[in-house]
Amino acid sequence: MDTKNIGGFNMNGSPSSEIVIATDGDLECPFCHRGIETQPLSYVRFTVDNVQLFLKCKCGQSFVGYTNQDNNTNRYNITGLSKGKHKTKFFEKEIQEVSSTFVLTYGESEFAEQENLKQICGAGYRRAFEFLIKDYLIKFKKKIKILLKKNFLVIVLKKI
Ligand SMILES: [Zn+2]
Repeated sequence: MDTKNIGGFNMNGSPSSEIVIATDGDLECPFCHRGIETQPLSYVRFTVDNVQLFLKCKCGQSFVGYTNQDNNTNRYNITGLSKGKHKTKFFEKEIQEVSSTFVLTYGESEFAEQENLKQICGAGYRRAFEFLIKDYLIKFKKKIKILLKKNFLVIVLKKI
């Protein structure tokens, strides 16, 4: 296990003694979404149980690391990171041309998933794929366009 000693501050801004941070583990930068080497710069001790780290990434962003103290070793482990940017999947130009509504709906579903809205993202992904299938059929199977205007997608798919 790698560790790093860092200095920090108490809530009133006065200097606080060095603490030991466990720096192993697979953390992902909340901005660039790449794995990061933990690079704690400093900390603030709000209470005995609330010690927050100031961290940085090579991508040029900084963020907060939330910690728990290990009672056996007295080291602090990082248990979570503050929020950065949502991760979004890149779709090829061809897919965007077939269904921009799919790309938009998929992106909104990813947003919901990363906010831990599991019911919403599940329904959103399903809806996104419905748009993709429907728009694909309309673009490449011209005769189906008429069927789609009159029927639900599932009925049309059974007729194909
Ligand atoms: Zn980063």
